[in-house]
Amino acid sequence: MTAIKNRNARRASVWLSALLALAMPLAALGQTRVEMPSNKYNVQDDIKLGQDAARQVEQQMPIMRDNNIDNYVESVGQRLVNAIPEEFRQPGFRYSFDVVDARDINAFALPGGPMFVNRGMIEAAKTEGEMAGVMAHEISHVALRHATAQATETQKFQIGSVLGQIAGAVIGGVPGAIIGAGSQIGFGAGALKYSRKYETQADILGAQIMARAGYDPRDLANMFRTIQAQGGGSGGPEWLSSHPNPGNRYERINQEASLLRVNPNSGREDTAAFRSVQQRLRGYPRARTMEEIARSGQRYPTQQGGDTRYPQQNDTYANGERVANPSTRYRNESTNLFSLQVPNNWRALGGSDGGSVTYAPEGAYGSQGITHGVMLGSGRGQATDLQRATQEYISGLLQSNSYLRQSAARRTTVDGRAAISTTLVGRSPVTGQSETVTVVTTMLRNGDLFYMAAVAPRNQQPNYQQSFNTIMRTLRINDR
Ligand SMILES: [Zn+2]
Repeated sequence: MTAIKNRNARRASVWLSALLALAMPLAALGQTRVEMPSNKYNVQDDIKLGQDAARQVEQQMPIMRDNNIDNYVESVGQRLVNAIPEEFRQPGFRYSFDVVDARDINAFALPGGPMFVNRGMIEAAKTEGEMAGVMAHEISHVALRHATAQATETQKFQIGSVLGQIAGAVIGGVPGAIIGAGSQIGFGAGALKYSRKYETQADILGAQIMARAGYDPRDLANMFRTIQAQGGGSGGPEWLSSHPNPGNRYERINQEASLLRVNPNSGREDTAAFRSVQQRLRGYPRARTMEEIARSGQRYPTQQGGDTRYPQQNDTYANGERVANPSTRYRNESTNLFSLQVPNNWRALGGSDGGSVTYAPEGAYGSQGITHGVMLGSGRGQATDLQRATQEYISGLLQSNSYLRQSAARRTTVDGRAAISTTLVGRSPVTGQSETVTVVTTMLRNGDLFYMAAVAPRNQQPNYQQSFNTIMRTLRINDR
């Protein structure tokens, strides 16, 4: 009887001390105190700068619209935002999280909260914690208002101050070369490269936010190593150059981590969700680099909801057009199988896994194939002579695209070889318009059938015929 009573009493006291530990402020554990830097700008300035810059980013960068990915990144982001210490919260700030379809290992946050994480960054992260680490670091720059604080400091020695200069730095720095692509707020300002002092602050506050959000703050340190290791190439990853190492970064973050207690009540790392998002990203066509995006001069419509990239009948795009006409300037493209010239404003999709390669303008491709552009590839059927192999291939196409029917076929040549050109027509379920598909086929020496399918809405065929002719004329097949 007494034994039981005692045990209950001990259990109650354990329970009580657990409650006390939870109630104890994390600061009591001896974490570093982060001081808000002095700032002569208003909070409203941060918000305005960030909103203006975000609008530009949305027009100049391909933002991924995939609900699975968006919801996941948003949920990790909100968890971190909820963990921002009270003293660094701004009621007017609105944190948002978008994924940019760019290959570079980069991420950037604009004043007031809009954050953009490159697809390359998410693919490079080893764990959800590493991805969250980059986001926590960026959130810290925003919460501490580092963009305007840094302007406050550097302008001490200048006559007057122009908010536009900060805007230039904010946008100029972060999305890499984008500013070169004709933006109006460039001012020739350099990248927004944070000072070492602010980098340390963002590392420390970032680690604290991680712990409060239930993440291991050491993952922030680990991510710096991951980025460094995967960066390679020329000059290392963009992200490290705008967030320079204040010295002993890895050690300093880990030291801070040892002072922090990971909040056990903020949820757990969702490894399955992270892996599935990574896998989903890898299923998308190869992402371009920021530089390639900037060079293309492409402007991106802001699309709402859904994961379609196709223009819809009633879509109103920023520049009033649905899919841009093919550029009359061409660039060389090549794969193991072929080389050719394509209009400069078409992007290369696929091909990394040895499958077909697509060249299509922005807005003309998605989960249901392409509405404008060309697809090239090769494959082996049962037949080994051109005519029957072509028939086999075409009937497969008609089966998987039941809206198409064959309208004509004729003999032609491609790269000096015997070829067959087959025309298919039908009403595209994607555009709702009549579509023409021209398929050119030729045999490879190994018995595979090589094909090129050129697709365009019928009423735009005149705009596309010239491009298709150039592609055909410049096509060279590597057939050894
Ligand atoms: Zn930084």
